[in-house]
Amino acid sequence: MQNFYNEPIRNFSKEEHRSWIFPTIQKIRSGFPIFVPSIVNGVEIQNLAKEKHANPAKKEEITTEYSLSDHSTLENAIRISKKHFYRWSELDPKERTSILWNVGTMILEKRNELCALILLETGKTIPEAEADIVEAIDFCRYYAKEYEGICKGRRVDLPGEENFYTYKPKGIVGVIAPWNFPAAILTGMCAGPLVCGNAVLLKPAEQSSATALFLFRLFLKAGVPNEVFHFLPGKGEEIGAAIVKHPEVAVINFTGSREVGVSILRECAQVRSESRRIKRALCEMGGKNPIIVDGDADLDLAVEGALHSAFGFQGQKCSALSRLILLDSCYETFKTRFLEAVSSLKIDSPEILSAKIGPVITEESRQRLENILTKHKDTILFQADLSEDLKSKGHYVPPTVFEEKDWNSDLATKEFFGPLVTLFRVKTFDEAIEKANDSEYALTAGVYSRNPEHIEKAKRRIEAGNLYINRAITGAVVERQPFGGYKLSGVGAKAGGPDYLKSFLEPITITENTMRRGFTAELIQ
Ligand code: NAD
Repeated sequence: MQNFYNEPIRNFSKEEHRSWIFPTIQKIRSGFPIFVPSIVNGVEIQNLAKEKHANPAKKEEITTEYSLSDHSTLENAIRISKKHFYRWSELDPKERTSILWNVGTMILEKRNELCALILLETGKTIPEAEADIVEAIDFCRYYAKEYEGICKGRRVDLPGEENFYTYKPKGIVGVIAPWNFPAAILTGMCAGPLVCGNAVLLKPAEQSSATALFLFRLFLKAGVPNEVFHFLPGKGEEIGAAIVKHPEVAVINFTGSREVGVSILRECAQVRSESRRIKRALCEMGGKNPIIVDGDADLDLAVEGALHSAFGFQGQKCSALSRLILLDSCYETFKTRFLEAVSSLKIDSPEILSAKIGPVITEESRQRLENILTKHKDTILFQADLSEDLKSKGHYVPPTVFEEKDWNSDLATKEFFGPLVTLFRVKTFDEAIEKANDSEYALTAGVYSRNPEHIEKAKRRIEAGNLYINRAITGAVVERQPFGGYKLSGVGAKAGGPDYLKSFLEPITITENTMRRGFTAELIQ
């Protein structure tokens, strides 16, 4: 296996990196709707009920028909996983790490198709889809490298006594994935437990099931055995909840909304008569992420970073900016320049490479965001124009900037998950930190400042799992910026960081008295 490295993102201003886009989109489109079956032990399950998902930018185009996995499919997946667990978990770790590395290589080989599929299924622009895929590749390589270190264990031996501290896979891991990073998050959430030797039941998000199926098949093709990796599409409240409740599932690896994450934690904490363990739950949830712009900040940098952080993938990132906390002294200048920048964002179909803003994921999501816009219409400072043509074609929401004084307003407290951002004014840097921390969430945060004392204070005091100074707050890079929050943003180990894999492992101490071995005769000869 090679040493870990981050896969670079292609530069789409070069013709050689662009020429594939149109024909690949047409190729993927010609296969619509993609049928997404439940797959257990490599076998597609027939006759399950189905649901449809449409292209967010072209609502009449059905991209996906996903199966609704049922209880008997789940029971079957669990039975087969248990039966074959030891064959996978006792494999030479090098074989599993090399399979994982291969998954990364195969994703790289298929990245054009995957990019086009993500674009059509979720409405991501090409550069955003590329970043998603590159991160998926990085997760495979990084977890493979990390596991090579972890699996060596640790020895502390004395004469007559051997002590070995090692790790064993926990068993069956239920992966419940979101749609907003349909490649990176899903791949990382499966790659981690698999490389450690666990069996995985994958429950993809309803809105990105075809992308999930594409990736699932690459895992199998790269060498992950059918018997320990099963694909269970369907509704969260049905098959997702059933996986969470199942007594044979040892770990729930969840990324998604706070509401669902908290309900999973509650369920996992219960010890029922059939329980054989306290179920471990990793829950990566939402954020209400702030950026503070200090009085002396470089405003060129701050405007660009805030724009990218608030509106990348239409604000549908857990790390997205939603509270812009501006020092009084730069408020008006920043505001003028920021609004100019927002008004220049090109809203269009993600099939157009120059589009910066595409649609939101579903009609339900659009409606939810429209309700927020109506409720807070008096505080809207700027709203981009949406053409009638785009409105009729897809689930578009105009990028909107609010200006608010009330720190108890939903604009200051609730996660919206859309292209909405609010400006707040503060008098001092200390007040800015206090307000930034006045949140139930602690996921990402940013500070733009040229004052070393303020920067140091921010590093000490700001409550965020990922703090960024003088740069955008989205786009964490595997290994360099392990990602994840605390408070009500999550409980788990940071994805793409050195603690992640241990969540899927049981630490074991093995002590052997070697003074009087007394081995049986046939074994000694
Ligand atoms: P969601 O919670 O609705 O869905 C996530 C997954 O959970 C889906 O697969 C869904 O089918 C499943 N699910 C839904 N109800 C369930 C239930 N009762 N039991 C079990 N599973 C269930 O979230 P979403 O709308 O897909 O994603 C958006 C949210 O995810 C936002 O809040 C965002 O901040 C968060 N998110 C967090 C991170 C992070 O790393 N912290 C990353 C991406 C997204």
